[in-house]
Amino acid sequence: MRGPVTELAYLADLPSAYVRSFRARITALPPGSVVLDRTYFYPTGGGQPSDQGTLRLADGSGVGVVDVRKSGPSVLHRLRGAADTVRRLEVGLELEGSLDWERRHRHMRLHTAQHLASARIFERTRLRTVRANLAGAAATIDLEGRLPEGELLRLAEDLRDAAEHPRPVSIRWIPRPEWDANPISERSGLVPLPAQIDPVRVVEIAARDVCPCGGTHVRTTGEIGPVRLSPAIDRTDGTTRVTLTLETSASTTPPA
Ligand SMILES: [Zn+2]
Repeated sequence: MRGPVTELAYLADLPSAYVRSFRARITALPPGSVVLDRTYFYPTGGGQPSDQGTLRLADGSGVGVVDVRKSGPSVLHRLRGAADTVRRLEVGLELEGSLDWERRHRHMRLHTAQHLASARIFERTRLRTVRANLAGAAATIDLEGRLPEGELLRLAEDLRDAAEHPRPVSIRWIPRPEWDANPISERSGLVPLPAQIDPVRVVEIAARDVCPCGGTHVRTTGEIGPVRLSPAIDRTDGTTRVTLTLETSASTTPPA
C-alpha cells in the first residue's frame, strides 16, 4: 500500500541540514508511528543512521522519536512516549519536531569526513569505496582492495589539512541527462545510480570531491574537527576497512 508523500525537507540545500526544529502536519498514523507532510528528521539510508528527537503538541506535551525510516513515499517516525499523549495524535494535527542535534551533527561531521577520505584514497590509489557506514562517533569505509603501504599516513595528513584549511561544502542538483553525459564522480561509480534518480543530488567538497549523495553534510571541512584513524583491517572478502573516529564528541554548535 502506498502511503502519503512526505517532503524530505532536509534534502533541499546545505542550510536545510541545519534546521533543528520545524512544524509539520500528521498525514497518517500507522501503529506506533507517525507520518508527517514534511520532515527534517533523516531516515536511515546510505550508511547514515536515522535521527532521533521529539514531536510536541501545541500544549507542550511530547513524544520521543526513536527511529525514522522510509516506507515508499512516506517517512515513518517511530514513537516512544506516554500512551495518553500518543492517543491524542490525529491526522491533520500540527506538531513541532525537534532533532537530537548532538547526534545529527555528529553524523554530518562523519559523513563529510567519509566523503573526503573516500575521495582522497581514490585519488591516489584508484580504490573505490564499496560501502560506508556511520555509527556512534565512527565511520567505516570498506575499500575494494588492499591499501598500499603508507596510505593511512597520507590520509591523516589530508584530514589535518582539511581541518586547518577549511574547504566549503555545497549541494547542487543536476538534471539526470546532464549527469549521464558527464558523470563527474569516478569514485562513486561502483554501484550504478538507480534509473529513477532525477535530478541527481551532488555533494561537493571544494577542489576535493564531487559525489551523488542523499545525506546531510557540514558546511565546511573545518567543522569536522579532529579525526583519529584506526589501523586498516584486511577483510577475508578482499576489502579493506578504514575506520575514522571523531576525537571530540561535541563540536561548537554552529548557528542555525
Ligand atoms: Zn554520502
